[in-house]
Amino acid sequence: MTATSTSASSAPAIQLVRLRKTFGDVVAVDTVDLEIVEGEFFSLLGPSGSGKTTVLRLIAGFEMPTAGAVLLQGQDVTRLAPYDRDVNTVFQDYALFPHMTVQQNVEYGLKVKGVARVERRRRAGEMLESVRLGGYGNRQPSQLSGGQRQRVALARALVNRPKVLLLDEPLGALDLKLREEMQLELKSIQHEVGITFVFVTHDQGEALSMSSRVAVFNQGRIEQVGTPRDIYERPSSAFVAGFVGTSNFLPPALAHRLLGVDGARTIRPERIRVLTLAADIAVGDVVVDGTVSDVQYLGAECRVRMRLDDGTTLVCSVPSDGLARVAIGQNVHMAWPRDAAVAIVQPTQHIEIESETNTTGETP
Ligand code: ATP
Repeated sequence: MTATSTSASSAPAIQLVRLRKTFGDVVAVDTVDLEIVEGEFFSLLGPSGSGKTTVLRLIAGFEMPTAGAVLLQGQDVTRLAPYDRDVNTVFQDYALFPHMTVQQNVEYGLKVKGVARVERRRRAGEMLESVRLGGYGNRQPSQLSGGQRQRVALARALVNRPKVLLLDEPLGALDLKLREEMQLELKSIQHEVGITFVFVTHDQGEALSMSSRVAVFNQGRIEQVGTPRDIYERPSSAFVAGFVGTSNFLPPALAHRLLGVDGARTIRPERIRVLTLAADIAVGDVVVDGTVSDVQYLGAECRVRMRLDDGTTLVCSVPSDGLARVAIGQNVHMAWPRDAAVAIVQPTQHIEIESETNTTGETP
């Protein structure tokens, strides 16, 4: 044991203490402290290379930390092999045995543990029901869709009833529609089995829609931990504001000029209204004048970019049906309630985010 043990009943499901991992000169995980409570659906969210998979592998025991400790239910497992930890992992590529049936795949872990045949069948059958695959036991993995294969992988990982399930971008290979269906399924399966889920993703929509809490990673460090609503509505750094959804970042000088406040602010595009008539301005609104520089049609909403007289661009999103009269080059008012501008607590540098899946992630 390298760290203190807490009593099992009060201990968090997972505790990372000053956890650090380097690969040569690369600092993959830079002194992370984190507690995950039993029964949580917890997501590790961040851009590619931010260290989230390495954290997952450290929890699973596939990597040894350079420093720090991993505790599961209060027990220091830092030096334990993966099979001595009460955790299971679901990988993006499913890793099913192709020559076995679905039922045999799910039974495999129980067989290794020496569980009797009848008991194995019963538990695997129940687990297949839980992942909505009752009746698919005799199929080969090759006879299943991607989403069904992913659910078999889930059943196989859950059948041993681990205390913790680690999921490494498990929906990454699925198309958007299937991914959205699986997000709902995963959430309801987790609710049903009550096991702690730790879910790695670089897709902010996925993290926000499924998780009880999210840790946002940047360059091996955690920038913020909170509920999806906390992370979205009260981002603590410019990085979080830009990575999780779209945000208008107001550096201190601009925040002072527009709002008369000290320190940087961030405003979500949907909080800004585009007004063509001064009469529509509400009492107490902050109002800024600008010129429409771009209108992007996105179906239900339009994203409108407006240039201020100092060259700054603000972006706002408005329902498409409310925008008939706005055209590029038009002078408009932008208005938002005062509380829409959220203070940035951490003085992180403003970072431009470009990511394929994070389609709304931009910081003008
Ligand atoms: P992705 O979403 O692309 O999987 P990630 O956030 O999960 O990214 P990690 O895989 O944890 O990031 O990698 C963090 C950093 O550590 C990266 O710079 C990566 O190149 C480096 N890294 C990870 N594993 C190794 C390794 N085995 N050897 C050397 N460097 C590594």
